[in-house]
Amino acid sequence: MATAALSPLDQELHPPAHLKPILADVGALYRDEVAPREAALAHRLADESQFLDTDGKLHPEILAARREIMRAAGKKNVYSAHLPERLGGRGLGRTDMIYVEEKVYGYGCGLNPALLSWSEGATPRLLYCHDHQREQFVDPLVRGEKTSLHAVTEIGAGSNLFDMKTHAKRRGRDWILSGTKAYITNAFDADVAQVLAVTEAGAGRRTFTYFMFDTREYLQKGYRPGRVYQTMFGDGYTGEIFFDDMVLPESAVIGEVGQGFDIAVMSFNYTRMRRAGMCSGWSKYLIERSLERVQSRIVGERPLGANQGIQWLLADMYVDWLQTRSLSLEVARTIDNPGPWYRMPRPKDEIRRICALKVSNDESFYRVADRALQVHGGSGVMRNNPINKLFQIARNLRIPGGTDEVQRTTIAETLGLRFDASKSAPKAAGG
Ligand SMILES: Cc1cc2nc3c(=O)[nH]c(=O)nc-3n(C[C@H](O)[C@H](O)[C@H](O)COP(=O)(O)OP(=O)(O)OC[C@H]3O[C@@H](n4cnc5c(N)ncnc54)[C@H](O)[C@@H]3O)c2cc1C
Repeated sequence: MATAALSPLDQELHPPAHLKPILADVGALYRDEVAPREAALAHRLADESQFLDTDGKLHPEILAARREIMRAAGKKNVYSAHLPERLGGRGLGRTDMIYVEEKVYGYGCGLNPALLSWSEGATPRLLYCHDHQREQFVDPLVRGEKTSLHAVTEIGAGSNLFDMKTHAKRRGRDWILSGTKAYITNAFDADVAQVLAVTEAGAGRRTFTYFMFDTREYLQKGYRPGRVYQTMFGDGYTGEIFFDDMVLPESAVIGEVGQGFDIAVMSFNYTRMRRAGMCSGWSKYLIERSLERVQSRIVGERPLGANQGIQWLLADMYVDWLQTRSLSLEVARTIDNPGPWYRMPRPKDEIRRICALKVSNDESFYRVADRALQVHGGSGVMRNNPINKLFQIARNLRIPGGTDEVQRTTIAETLGLRFDASKSAPKAAGG
């Protein structure tokens, strides 16, 4: 699954010189940690029936390999490079992270994504954790030794947080957490849960609070993973979870009581910005595989790529990649310049650009994946083909992290198009 060295697109990446060490670390990690495990698990990665176990969950061997890769990447301080040094990261800004992400995702969709923290890892919510949460939760998550889930969405509450029913009520100094969350990534394997709940209904942006706890410690005490969903991209990793009147101590709160909305907005912004290198890397992978295919596939005694119709498909894929990558780097530059990407609150124009970045990346990656599948013909439709897998992933990306329609609504609102005063509660969407 390795990307061919120095493709025409490789020559256009131009990473800054100061990133040479971390990009070399990524290359070494891929060679030493990822590629051998992908080879050992090739039969599972290439066959959906072996990728999942009999319950439809991601197979334990793949979960174990991912965890080993996370830990190895943690040891080299690649896994959490985006976090500030005081938390154990490398303190890289968004611009720098785009180059790192596109290198990681440029290897395709095998085990390589485990090299970098995603929603199950060291997310910026850790910036709001207290000292007493550091040893048990923050440090192991930053080092890739534990995984987390992030539970916001419910069946009846996705695009609008204010529809949320999961709540935590005070009992003495404790909190009683009750509710159900849906579509949660890493729902059955997470060591740590980070859960958003209503703590003061009707209090505007002070309505919600984040809680964090050890999932295994609470398994017999009201915490319950439910079924695993069978998603279109067969991840075996997305499910539902229940909180049956769980008793949580005050020390389980992330940040302050009532700060959940602001922390959620910050997390979603991060998820949206994170699309940049991910979509660029995966698009680059798809374009390179498509170039190889149209040069080697002979149809009617000449390469497929000799046809103008096919050439234009490839040209359009390149235009999408270049446009969105350029936009992402420009948005990242304007985010990094005023200070660290995780600062709060953010000005409206910056929020607008982050939403634009998500829409642009999701949709251009989807177009690239669609065209890549087309040039692969029947082989692209086969389930065990990485082109097909990335097409499914690309379609999915337009939903989580706040749907692309919600991004457009925010863009319009920050341009001054907000008319319904009765719905003036601050908006945040997507898990
Ligand atoms: C694979 C996967 C993984 C996920 N992982 C997580 C996770 O780890 N944690 C988590 O909390 N959540 C997670 N989610 C949930 C995800 O964030 C939600 O599905 C998403 O926010 C949309 O919410 P919904 O499904 O309720 O759709 P709805 O809110 O019902 O929206 C349905 C459609 O209506 C559109 N729509 C809604 N409101 C408006 C409006 N005002 N104007 C115009 N159009 C609108 C939406 O864009 C969408 O197209 C995941 C989802 C998926 C598919």
